[in-house]
Parts: sequence; structure tokens; C-alpha cells
Amino acid sequence: MRPVLIVHGGAWEIPAAAVLACREGCRRALEAGHRVLDAGGSALDAVEAAIVALEDDPVFDAGYGSHLNLRGRVQLDAILMEGATLNAGAVAAVERVRNPIRLARRVLESSPHVLLVAEGAEEFAREQGIALCEPDDLVTQSQRKAWLRCREVGHSSAAHFPSQQGTVGAVAIDSAGRIAAGTSTGGTCCKYPGRVGDSPLVGCGCYADDEAGGASSTGWGEGIMKIVMAKTAIEMLRAGHAPQEAADRSIRLLSDRVHATGGLILVDRQGRIGASFSTPNMAFAYRDAAGALVISP
Ligand code: ASP
Repeated sequence: MRPVLIVHGGAWEIPAAAVLACREGCRRALEAGHRVLDAGGSALDAVEAAIVALEDDPVFDAGYGSHLNLRGRVQLDAILMEGATLNAGAVAAVERVRNPIRLARRVLESSPHVLLVAEGAEEFAREQGIALCEPDDLVTQSQRKAWLRCREVGHSSAAHFPSQQGTVGAVAIDSAGRIAAGTSTGGTCCKYPGRVGDSPLVGCGCYADDEAGGASSTGWGEGIMKIVMAKTAIEMLRAGHAPQEAADRSIRLLSDRVHATGGLILVDRQGRIGASFSTPNMAFAYRDAAGALVISP
């Protein structure tokens, strides 16, 4: 079958000054993932490659350049899930790993566990030969400035604007019909130290099942967790809804049931795409059935 990939750079209010950088970041990540898929590679490799590109781009809230927590430190969460086996690997609250999605992959493939957090996750990274960085290596000047502003005036979205950023994610189906999905985030700005949102949780920030489809979520994690949004959307696919309808219904449920905003990307087992959001914008990109680039905002 024709391989399909969709990437996102978060559902949020993207300031005009960041629009081009978001588009370019999504385009580059899509290319990185498609290089893998077009060469006959697996959906899992493609999702990892796309998310590494997004994590390395400081315009997004993942990897280098993520939001700082209340203590002024970056704490990262990521997950990768494989739809053939339902195996997942995730890490949370890591402070010394540049590409947490690579570490999530190691958890998936080289540990008996699903989720490792904080020092334990970093110890596992060391054992796996993943180089650790200094916590400050993940901090950009603009996020440090935003954090200082918040500390002075009290945290608010307005204090963060225009330094707000979005979580990243990707969903792919490869030529063999294997589905994978992943999500990576620095979490919400000025979050409480140790706070973990939906992103690294199976069924909340991400889900993949070859029998139905794959999904990656973004938005207010405390709401997304309560409706187990990614799995909810996949169950809608299983029940026969088209991907766009499943994405729209999940985002409506997020708003109706827990009064939260967010976004979701989906690919079903036939390679059809859905993308929906209730925030002013969501950064995302994919190639349509004719191979043309579709990119937002
Ligand atoms: N869902 C992420 C979290 O709550 C944040 C986001 O997607 O913007 O950590």
C-alpha cells in the first residue's frame, strides 16, 4: 500500500511571527519521515525520524527549546507505540536527554517496561549508550526570558505570548500496513516540577493499533487524560467512523466533557488521514493521495 505520514507541531495560538518557522519545521519533519517510508522503511522508524527533527527544532515544545517548569528547568516526556504488537515505550520528566523519542524507542525495544521516569529513565539511557546532556543544553534564551517574565508577573498565557510553543507528534502507516504513532513534549509552561501530562501515556497522548489506526494528541493534558483521547479516537475508527469524523468527535468530546482545547492527528488502517483542533491553530503537515504537500497553519 501507499505509505502515509502526518506530523504535528501542536495545537495552540501560533503568533504570526512563528507561522513560517512552524510550517518549515513540519515540512522538514515530514521529509525526514518520508525518506524512511519511501525507501521501504518501517512506520516506527519513520515516526521516530520525524519526531527527532521536530525535537531538534526550537520552535516546538519538545527536546531543545521546550517550555521551562516552575523551577526553570526543562522536563521532557515522550512515547512511541507500534500498532502490530501494541508494544509501547515511554519516558517522562527527563532533564538530560536531547531526543527523548529515541529513549522511548529503547524502552519499547530493549526493556520489559512501558514507562520510565526521571533519574531511572536517565540511568536507562546511559546503559543504552544514549549520551546525556546538561539540563541547560535544552534551554533557549527565548524560553528563559519567557520564564523570567512569568516569574515577575505570575504565570499566564499572556505572559508567555509570543513564546508559547506546541507539543509534537507523528503517525504513519508503511507499505506493509504497519502503523506507528509517537508524541514528544516539554509539557505546559511553568508546570509544577514532576507534572506529567497526557503525552507519554498510552491511549492519552498516543495510540497505535494495526487493526484500526494510529493517533497523536496535543493540548491541555489534564483534560486529554480524562477522556483518554487517542484511544477514544481509535475506538471510533474501529466502530466505523471515517478518520476526519473520529478526529472531530474526539475534539468535541474534549470540549463538551472536560472543557479543554486541543488537537489530534489520525491515520486509519487504509491510510486515510484526520486532523482536528479547537485551538486557534494547529501546526501539521502531510502529503495527500496525489502526493501534494498539505501544510497548516
Ligand atoms: N499535551 C501536552 C501536555 O499537557 C501539552 C501540549 O500538547 O501542548 O503536556
